[in-house]
Amino acid sequence: MFKLNSLLVIFLFLTACAGPNTARMNYDTAELDAEAALQREMALKKYLNYKQRLHNVSYPILKAASQFCANKQINSVGAQGSASADFKDSWRITANKILGSDGFIITWVADNGPAAVAGLAVNDKVIAVNDVQFGTNNLQHKKFYAEINRIQTSKSPLAKLTLKRDTQVLNLSIKQEKICGYPAVLAESDAVNAYADGKRIVITKGMMRFAQDDQDLALVIAHELGHNLMGHLDKQQTNFMLGTILDLAAAASGINTQGTFGSAGASAFSQDFEAEADYVALYYMNAAGLPLEGTASFWREMAAEHPGSIGSNHSASHPATSERFLAISKTIEEIKHKIANGQPVRPSLKN
Ligand SMILES: [Zn+2]
Repeated sequence: MFKLNSLLVIFLFLTACAGPNTARMNYDTAELDAEAALQREMALKKYLNYKQRLHNVSYPILKAASQFCANKQINSVGAQGSASADFKDSWRITANKILGSDGFIITWVADNGPAAVAGLAVNDKVIAVNDVQFGTNNLQHKKFYAEINRIQTSKSPLAKLTLKRDTQVLNLSIKQEKICGYPAVLAESDAVNAYADGKRIVITKGMMRFAQDDQDLALVIAHELGHNLMGHLDKQQTNFMLGTILDLAAAASGINTQGTFGSAGASAFSQDFEAEADYVALYYMNAAGLPLEGTASFWREMAAEHPGSIGSNHSASHPATSERFLAISKTIEEIKHKIANGQPVRPSLKN
């Protein structure tokens, strides 16, 4: 009995400690729903802002690098859009409010791109592409998106868009331009990372926040484009290896950690591939007319945030941030030298 009592006392003591000391506020369901709806609207607008920035920075690089990706080029109108029918459940209601309930809404147009030149603007509602009508029912929706995909690889560069702008119906004929066929997409993750999967360039929200300066974001995008364009994923022949910007195992280690990072076996050529992606990235940025001066400082900022990635470690899958800073600085010197000597400004390939 004594034992039981003492257990009871301990139990009561624990529950007393675990509970809050103040009463929780009361709110009714309508208030809660209204606040949730407002927060979803803010979240969707922010998501669209992230995507706009990603396209603004990636598009000029994809376009300029098309000279380096001969058999991987696609057509592009230089615009992006979204339809509320792409969203599910409570997000559909939010999307209806922001994008409208019918039609494919233009959410981004490249400055001076083919769509901009033809007169397409953000918030235009596309109701047909090459006479394939937009529809919210499943079949029509699929047909519409299939047509959007088809024009990217069609032989004719012309795309006909039927729009609704206020009460006007407009027909635009857009002559598409060539870009590298590796679209930049946003991943919801808060991890500071980016990767290439052989088809796309994936940038996390965490990386978008870390790379506050557009020049930093451009370097990350160009690096991932390098992995795709140089065929690193085919060469690695392992599906699970993604061409990431940073060795996360190393980066997660803090100051004073003397560990062995990454798996040497799984990433035998990875340091070389990482170095190559950094190297060609500078050439893509240069081709896009972006300033290179100061680009290397990205790796100083990364080192400050992830001290585990500073020191050289030959078993790590990625070169150390110190090496990457120096290699980028040397590449910029190489590019400047080629420009000064009137040489073609292309990556120097081994024979
Ligand atoms: Zn990489």
